[in-house]
Amino acid sequence: GPALLFVKTSQGKEEGRRFYACSACRDRKDCSFFQWEDEKVSETRLAAREEYNRNHQPSFTHRQNVDRYKNFVLLPLSKRRFCQECQQLLLPAEWEKHSDHQFLCNITTAQLKSPSQLLYPLENKKTNAQYLFADRSCKFLLNLLIDLGFRRVLSVGTPRLHEMIQSKASQEEEFSVRSLLLDIDFRYSQFYTEDEFCHYNMFNHHFFGGEAARETCRKFLYEENGERIIMVTDPPFGGLVEALASSFKKLMAMWSETEKEGHDNKEMPMFWIFPYFFESRILDFFPSFSMMDYQVDYDNHALYKHGKTGRRQSPVRIFTNLTPSMIVLPEEEGYRFCPVCQRYVSSANQHCEICNSCTSKDGRRWKHCVLCKKCVKPSWFHCSNCNCCTLEKHSCEKSDVGCFVCGKAGHKRSACPSLSCT
Ligand code: SAH
Ligand code: ZN
Ligand code: ZN
Ligand code: ZN
Ligand code: ZN
Repeated sequence: GPALLFVKTSQGKEEGRRFYACSACRDRKDCSFFQWEDEKVSETRLAAREEYNRNHQPSFTHRQNVDRYKNFVLLPLSKRRFCQECQQLLLPAEWEKHSDHQFLCNITTAQLKSPSQLLYPLENKKTNAQYLFADRSCKFLLNLLIDLGFRRVLSVGTPRLHEMIQSKASQEEEFSVRSLLLDIDFRYSQFYTEDEFCHYNMFNHHFFGGEAARETCRKFLYEENGERIIMVTDPPFGGLVEALASSFKKLMAMWSETEKEGHDNKEMPMFWIFPYFFESRILDFFPSFSMMDYQVDYDNHALYKHGKTGRRQSPVRIFTNLTPSMIVLPEEEGYRFCPVCQRYVSSANQHCEICNSCTSKDGRRWKHCVLCKKCVKPSWFHCSNCNCCTLEKHSCEKSDVGCFVCGKAGHKRSACPSLSCT
């Protein structure tokens, strides 16, 4: 889809130079597209680009994949193979071509219903960053939105939540929740029909399936029979908040437009799952949102999951435009209700009388600094040189540019302690 317009600022110059680059790949190694805004592109280069794009299309279209799936499920178990190298379901006629590839045999119906287990997670940090919900967190999210009365889920970059909903819907008759998955990972088109999955880029709101896919999404957003809808998204954490917010606003607008009378100027309900240190960035774009204390856990993320030896703290939270008091967090995991703040908070999050709020962001108990007039992390102390609270080990010299991720000075985005996984 369309590239994004960035700006390169160089020191000493007022205005930076603007250029276009790929919206989805933040690493030039994954996509080399680069073009100055004012650059003239020759016919030859345009042709070469188109040629390149033609040669890099997926080997099957979504439609073809749906037909292949229909044939695949008709096969006896012994003939159901999945090529691990090509990440593709194989029909017997294709075995030959993949003969020197690793493959799995006897693919069961259960396996077909949990593609996120069958496919390997694309962990490339800069592009897909596929971190799958731990079962516990996924169940929590699903039960939460059911309790809140939602019957439709727009799953944007949440294949595991989508899969849990799809698989329950096919197994339990009374289960009436439906989900539409929007994701850039085209491998999922092998397992879902065009009404269940749209190939979508959340950084530029691009539907790869064109108008038909857009229409599928629009239809899904239209709340028939009073079936209320919520959007749940869990974007790659390295992604630009600005680009994401702009796409999410477009999805929200799509929802608003489905109702002729409008939805009384309400916003489409949304859960945006993202690390807590992006709170201010998200609130910049969505002032109606608030951050919940619930810690979202992941399966394949060493840092963001519960270790065997007890609880690791995950920095990932739920941001929502629903009334915080409605988001009930599990007491058995230590969350409790703060009557003053009117929301559930983590067990160590103490209500600060001076701030008049439960101030901890990371789940640890924070302390109030009278000089800074706010609560700060327990590991911080007040530095009279810098005139603010900070880590004991720091260099007092101030640098003007803050870290892109946490906004603090002294380090760059790549070395941000908040993203200690990298
Ligand atoms: N926790 C979620 C997965 C989150 S990982 C779950 O378990 O369901 C991030 C997801 O966003 C991945 O599925 C990835 O394929 C998708 N993604 C990454 N970049 C994207 C983009 N530009 N547009 C749409 N989806 C994207
Ligand atoms: Zn293969
Ligand atoms: Zn409180
Ligand atoms: Zn305080
Ligand atoms: Zn202080």
